[in-house]
Amino acid sequence: MEQRIDIDWTACEGHGLCAELLPERITLDEWGYPLVEGTPVPTGTIKRARRAASDCPALALKLRVRQPT
Ligand code: SF4
Repeated sequence: MEQRIDIDWTACEGHGLCAELLPERITLDEWGYPLVEGTPVPTGTIKRARRAASDCPALALKLRVRQPT
């Protein structure tokens, strides 16, 4: 099963911590809000993606399991 990064835009406060923890998957726009690579998170990156989710100060970053289409 695939896991993808989802951002709850109503909760995200643009702290930018996620981009520091997962720079190969998340960059920041000019206002400091995350731009997320939408493809499935590679297996070797899942652990750090979970950390980015748990460390998000606004709890706005989630890993979602999705069935491949
Ligand atoms: S760490 Fe959380 S609140 Fe900050 S930019 Fe990333 S998703 Fe948004």
